[in-house]
Amino acid sequence: MKNILLVLLFIVAGCTNKNETPPIIQQICSSEFCSENGAKELINLYEDDNMTNETMTFKINCIVATNKKVDFKFQKKIKDLNNVFTKGKIKFIVNSEISISPQKLTIDQIAEKEGIFTQFKQNLKKEKSINIIIVPHGKSLNGFTLVLPEKFLNYLNLGYETIYISDKAWFNTSTLQHELGHFFGLQHTFGELTNENSTLEKPNGTNCKEEGDFICDTPSDPNGKTDAYCNYVKSINKNGEVYSPKVNNYMSYYPNKCKNEFTNGQYKAMNLFAKEYRSYLIY
Ligand SMILES: [Zn+2]
Repeated sequence: MKNILLVLLFIVAGCTNKNETPPIIQQICSSEFCSENGAKELINLYEDDNMTNETMTFKINCIVATNKKVDFKFQKKIKDLNNVFTKGKIKFIVNSEISISPQKLTIDQIAEKEGIFTQFKQNLKKEKSINIIIVPHGKSLNGFTLVLPEKFLNYLNLGYETIYISDKAWFNTSTLQHELGHFFGLQHTFGELTNENSTLEKPNGTNCKEEGDFICDTPSDPNGKTDAYCNYVKSINKNGEVYSPKVNNYMSYYPNKCKNEFTNGQYKAMNLFAKEYRSYLIY
């Protein structure tokens, strides 16, 4: 089955009265920026600054909300994450391992259901940490991360720091990396459109700052196919140009078993995003 990882982009609109739950308009639009502002913010961030050399440490609450009776091996998982993120000067530590009421809904249903996030939030500790919630596996989603469009600055006061992952995908070797990539500002390597060969980034990369994931050392990705050995199956766009995507990139939709890499550009983007927009979570 095709690996489908979606990011929900939330638009919080009309948030004028703090006593009311803000109306939430839920959009599943993969992980593209819903506004040009977001794209420009990432590009400006990327061009105006250099990576910080100081390691930023983030605490993770590992929250089990499924009745699957297995050992989730949190310490091992976080150790594996640290091996991947060390190049971005990002480090994770386990803050807590807790179980809450098992969800009856699958991850797909949770993603579709408006308002459920508010329910979850009420159960969680109000402290500076990333919440990773393991919920029942469904039919399509492996995980999703709440991403705020419009302005990255919204992260600073709206407190969206939750990642959902299915109790099956938890055990593969790329879903959590992918979701944390989104958490630290990364987009899918193919950009907005998931249909094969429909990426707006040119195969030769000349518009790499404006399309795709806006990062130039991730080649244009047509979100195509691989063979059983993770070799890309050659494809061309409508102008006859050949794509050469990196099927091992964590932010692609290629099979989980193929993915094992962030590029230097992605590390830099995550590092700068963490410093600028996730600084309130640094331990
Ligand atoms: Zn994704």
